[in-house]
Amino acid sequence: MSQLDPDNQFDITIVGGGMVGISLALLLAKQQRWKVMVLESQAIKGASIPDYSPSFDARSTALSWSSRCIFQKIGVWPKIEQHAQAISSIHVSDRGHFGLTRLEAEEAGVDALGYVVENSWLGSVLMQQAVEEDISLKGAAKITSIHPKAQSMELAIEVDGQQRLINSKLLVVADGTDSACAKTLGIQQHSKAYGHSAIIANISLEQPHGEVAYERFTDQGPMALLPLPEFKNTHRCALVWTQPSEQAEALMVSDESAFLSQLQARFGHRLGQFKQLGERAIYPLALSTSEEQVRRRLVVVGNAAHSLHPVAGQGFNLSLRDIDCLVQCLKDQPQITDVGELEPLLSYQKQRDKDQRNTLMFTDNLSKLFGLSSSMVALGRNSGLLMMDLVPTLRNQFAHFGMGTGQSGVDHG
Ligand SMILES: Cc1cc2nc3c(=O)[nH]c(=O)nc-3n(C[C@H](O)[C@H](O)[C@H](O)COP(=O)(O)OP(=O)(O)OC[C@H]3O[C@@H](n4cnc5c(N)ncnc54)[C@H](O)[C@@H]3O)c2cc1C
Repeated sequence: MSQLDPDNQFDITIVGGGMVGISLALLLAKQQRWKVMVLESQAIKGASIPDYSPSFDARSTALSWSSRCIFQKIGVWPKIEQHAQAISSIHVSDRGHFGLTRLEAEEAGVDALGYVVENSWLGSVLMQQAVEEDISLKGAAKITSIHPKAQSMELAIEVDGQQRLINSKLLVVADGTDSACAKTLGIQQHSKAYGHSAIIANISLEQPHGEVAYERFTDQGPMALLPLPEFKNTHRCALVWTQPSEQAEALMVSDESAFLSQLQARFGHRLGQFKQLGERAIYPLALSTSEEQVRRRLVVVGNAAHSLHPVAGQGFNLSLRDIDCLVQCLKDQPQITDVGELEPLLSYQKQRDKDQRNTLMFTDNLSKLFGLSSSMVALGRNSGLLMMDLVPTLRNQFAHFGMGTGQSGVDHG
């Protein structure tokens, strides 16, 4: 167990091989400049088994246009696209009130407003690429200590019952919400529970979804029905249904027909009859942020840095924009030979601050605004939605915000 063993020296070590950690490793690999290691706590059985990690679960992810561009850069978009469903329009409505708006890709001047892809497919594509790029990836890795040293971060890890000391110029913390790594390093994390939970499940439909994503706001919380590619001639969509946790837990144990009839009552018949319900999973929701995102030799990314309400499908898209910028900042300073130096990391933080704050506020405000049922708020939000329908410029801004292409033009704070 020698510290000088080159097998234990890395430029960049990423803790957490979830969607963000693996995407970052792939972006870094494209630079062919740094020796990178990914440490994942779950066992990794191979690229053909996509559900090795909580990150690559039964959920689907709505990818923004900017995420598509980043995956194109990594070289994985053609594969992801094989099982991705383009969103041609987004239909926003408010149950029991007038408000309604429709965002169109054509009007926004793009091929699609976004894409929906199942996490299992996304995960399997990213993992396959990591294997092809020969990225060092250690599964079932347990980090027992982290010590910041002058020249590196020193990590003691346990893999396959063996102890190992790793030295890394830069440590990237990507181990998800409530990051154990951040805690070990004394980084405070703030968390505000929404008291709501999201139920996710795939639903089969009576009629085609027509590439429309439905975002429906109800007095119990927002629900989204995202279009999925057809599977064995079955029309499908991915449901994200948020509501007070107690109700969500009751729905989790209800039988299929009771669940579908409640869903039908909440959503209406725009997609015809809901026919079948896939496996359900539940996620208690909280807004979590890390008090610090950078230190010398350290950067916190993904859910470990900020974990958002899923109302507008922004969390992963935001993190992809973050890590794309991080790699840009690291490579744009060729005069700095030590990748763990503070300067590029501070520049990263400065460049990402506005988008992060805007996205956090946008999702937090949206979830709160539509969680309230008072008639005044309903009146306000109806006129807001109607106004969006009437003012194409505002609607386009909203669409671009969702696509991750227009952050600087929108200020929600
Ligand atoms: C219901 C729901 C729907 C969503 N829909 C969307 C959407 O449509 N669009 C969107 O952009 N975002 C969406 N999100 C957000 C998105 O899922 C997250 O932003 C994303 O999963 C964050 O990925 P991550 O890699 O940072 O964290 P995680 O997915 O939590 O991955 C962390 C990884 O680190 C590993 N790990 C944990 N501890 C350790 C440790 N000590 N050592 C090593 N490894 C460790 C874990 O095993 C895991 O593999 C949604 C979220 C929810 C809850």
